[in-house]
Amino acid sequence: MKILKIKLHWQILIALVLAVLFGYFVPQGVKYVTWMGEIFLTSLKMVIVPLILSSIISGVTSMGGGNNLGRMGAKTMIYYISTSILAILTGLLMVNIIKPGVGVEMGFTENVAEIAKNTGSVNDILMRIVPPNIFDAMAKGDILPVIFFAIIFGVFITQVKGKYKETLTTFFEAVFEVMMKMTMFIIKFTPLGIFGIVSHEVSKNAHQLTNLAGSMAIYMITVFLALGIHAFITLPLILRFVAKVKPYAHMRNMVTPLLTAFSTASSSATLPLTMEAVEHKSGVSNPITSFTLPLGATINMDGTALYECVAAIFIAQVYGVDFTFSQQILVVVTALLASIGAAGIPMAGLVMLTIILSAAGLPLEGIGLILAVDLLLDMTRTSVNVWSDSCAAVTIARSEKEKTNIAI
Ligand code: ASP
Repeated sequence: MKILKIKLHWQILIALVLAVLFGYFVPQGVKYVTWMGEIFLTSLKMVIVPLILSSIISGVTSMGGGNNLGRMGAKTMIYYISTSILAILTGLLMVNIIKPGVGVEMGFTENVAEIAKNTGSVNDILMRIVPPNIFDAMAKGDILPVIFFAIIFGVFITQVKGKYKETLTTFFEAVFEVMMKMTMFIIKFTPLGIFGIVSHEVSKNAHQLTNLAGSMAIYMITVFLALGIHAFITLPLILRFVAKVKPYAHMRNMVTPLLTAFSTASSSATLPLTMEAVEHKSGVSNPITSFTLPLGATINMDGTALYECVAAIFIAQVYGVDFTFSQQILVVVTALLASIGAAGIPMAGLVMLTIILSAAGLPLEGIGLILAVDLLLDMTRTSVNVWSDSCAAVTIARSEKEKTNIAI
């Protein structure tokens, strides 16, 4: 990539634009480039589990376990829950003001049986955290149980003595260094990967462009506006007044992961890039990066939470159901839980929407209505998810008196 001498995020942007044009105008050529996207995504998935495992274990051991970890854990959870609630309330406000579902025709034909089958419950979400078999969880790439195991393992490393503690600490630090180097190598191929992914998606979905017209457009605009308020106003205000750094300086550092999140619609696949940017560009220390980001990629999904709320109320509006205040509160709470439970993979939010619809007594078929326009919304909410995770890392680092590289 050196030959190009263009900054990576510009390369990605150019790749994104070219991919849209290529996918739209030369769809028959897309099959020759799809492999680039597939290899890129597979390589990211390849590094995720060892990267998370080694980074969390080395992060926890360098924090010394115990008290520090507890304090950091508490701060992280407070940040995650409060920003998710702020996001949901923004969505709730916008969907009540714009009322995109009022007057929408219900002539949809999508088959939702596949999605409805995956309906989970809040209990399932909690039960997924403790792995009965850690190797199975790692093999399946189930991040939440891997995080749980890594934290506990790291804490207990700090409780053994002498050479065992040293050996394990050094070992996981070394693995982490190597995984980070591998990640940086993969990142160089992001423009090619994104070209493959996006041109494939564009060629596959070009015919759906007509769906963007009419009342679905108002629904999409509602989601975009609410996501925009959260990403460009709420989170920057937190960075400005709580973390006391320049929000847009941090955003510039995050361009590569944000564009990757947008193109892949997966916060998990983007995680290696997010960790690299937050640590090496914004200058957050390794213990904080490795503790907050993997956790954030799985449980902190502001964009998804906001989207779930807008989508549920939109469906209610389409069905002519007028939600009372307490029903809206129910939607807020279930949207929060659903966003925590959603995996960081494409369309996970749509699947979790079934939980909210069943809790609110709405027909699952409502999902068929919004399925067709989910792709673009998924890409956008994933960028917001990743942006919020990175803001969490910075805010927590600043609260721990870290300097970071971001201008203040
Ligand atoms: N695709 C999102 C993510 O990976 C989850 C969702 O579908 O909302 O963050």
